[in-house]
Amino acid sequence: MDAEQVQHGPKEAGYSSDGEKYRPYIDCLCGFSTGRCINWMDAGEVFDDHLRDVGLGD
Ligand SMILES: [Zn+2]
Repeated sequence: MDAEQVQHGPKEAGYSSDGEKYRPYIDCLCGFSTGRCINWMDAGEVFDDHLRDVGLGD
């Protein structure tokens, strides 16, 4: 394993509240976060887009 290489993958997923509604989010190992999404499908798509951006998606 190359320690210098940035890893990508789901690090943490959960719900974040703005004080009114809970919204799902997914954090990547590299520090990327989908932020608060409308639903899990949306969070998954944003995360997939990130993986594609870094060359890991199809
Ligand atoms: Zn990443």
